[in-house]
Amino acid sequence: MSKYWSKMAKRTDPYVPGEQIDQKGIIKLNTNENPYPPSPHAVDAIRLEMDRKLQQYPSPTMDSLRDTIAGYHQLRKENVFVGNGSDEVLGFSFMAFFDQDKRIRFPAVTYSFYPAYAKLFGIPYEEIPLARDFSLPIEAFFQSDGGVIFPNPNAPTSVYLELEYVIEVIENNPDQVVIIDEAYIDFAGASAATLIDAYDNLLVVQTMSKSRSLAGMRIGFALGNSDLIKGLTRVKNSFNSYTMDRLAIAGAEAAINDHTYFLQTTKKIIQTREQVISRLKENGFTVLPSQANFVFASHYKLKANWLYERLKENHVLVRYFDKNPIKNYLRITIGTDEDMDTFFKRLNTVIAEQT
Ligand code: PMP
Repeated sequence: MSKYWSKMAKRTDPYVPGEQIDQKGIIKLNTNENPYPPSPHAVDAIRLEMDRKLQQYPSPTMDSLRDTIAGYHQLRKENVFVGNGSDEVLGFSFMAFFDQDKRIRFPAVTYSFYPAYAKLFGIPYEEIPLARDFSLPIEAFFQSDGGVIFPNPNAPTSVYLELEYVIEVIENNPDQVVIIDEAYIDFAGASAATLIDAYDNLLVVQTMSKSRSLAGMRIGFALGNSDLIKGLTRVKNSFNSYTMDRLAIAGAEAAINDHTYFLQTTKKIIQTREQVISRLKENGFTVLPSQANFVFASHYKLKANWLYERLKENHVLVRYFDKNPIKNYLRITIGTDEDMDTFFKRLNTVIAEQT
C-alpha cells in the first residue's frame, strides 16, 4: 500500500452508511427514509425546473429557498444556510466552528458521522456516555473546551431531550458553539429553532431527507445567528459556491410550501410508530421512548445480531450496530402500515423458530 494511502488512513475512519439495496420485495427499514413519496408539488416543481434551466448554474446564494425556510421558522434568510444534505452542512459546521486544539463533546452513542468528521479535520473529541436509560447526561456537556454537538432526538436511540435541558447546555457553553442536529425533530417535540434569536452560539441543523421525503435530493440546512451563517458560507464558498443543484432547490422550496402534505405524512408516521411500539412490546421487546421515525428495540431473549441476519434472510432490512452498549438493539425505521404488517409477520416467523 502506498505511503500516501496510509497517511489518509491514519486521519480518517469514515462513516459507513446503511445498506442501500435496490431489490424488489425488500422491506427497507434500515436508513430512516420516509415511506411516503415527496409532496406532489415538489415533484412538479422539480419537473418544471428540469424543463427550464438546467444549462444555467443555480443561484449560489439560494435567496428564495432560504427566504422560504426562514419564513417557516419565523426567522430571516440571514439566519439560514442550505447545503447538500445535512451531512454536508454538519461537515461545514465542524470546519467552521470547531478547532484543532480544543476538545469538543458529543454522546458516546450517537450519529457516527461526528467522530468521522472530527478525525478527518483533526479535531480532538470526548465521547460522553449516556445515562443507563439512554438519556443525555446534560451536565457532562457543560463548560466544554471546544463546543458541543448532539442529535435531538438522538440517533440511533430515538430519545428526545426536552427543550429546557437543551437551553441549559447552550447557556452553559457561552463561549462555544452548540450544534443541535435535528434530523428527526418533526417527529418529536419542540425545535431549538425557536431559540435562535436568543442565543448567538446555537446552530440548529435540519434535513429534508426524513419528514419531507427528499433523501434522494440531498437537502439540509442550518439555522443560526447571522454571524454563524456567514461563517458557514465562507467555508462553503471555499469549496464550491454551488453546492445545491437546481432540481434540489426547486423541490425543497415546493416541499416546504406544501404544509398540508407534510402534516399528513408526519402524523401518519407518528401514529404507525405508536402501534409498532405496542406490537414490539407484545412480542418480547423493550423499546426506548421514541420521538423519531424509527424505534430502538431489544428482545428479552434473542440476540439483535441474530435477529438482524434472520430478518435479512427474510427480505426485511433493519439496522444493527455491533458496538457496546447498543449491541443488543435493533433500529427499525417506521414504514407504511403495510410494511410494518409484513415486518411483524416475518419477525414472528423468525421468533417462532427459536422459542
Ligand atoms: N443527522 C442524523 C442524526 C442522521 O441520522 C442523519 C441521517 N443519516 C443525518 C444527520 C444526515 O441526513 P442527510 O444528510 O440525509 O440530510
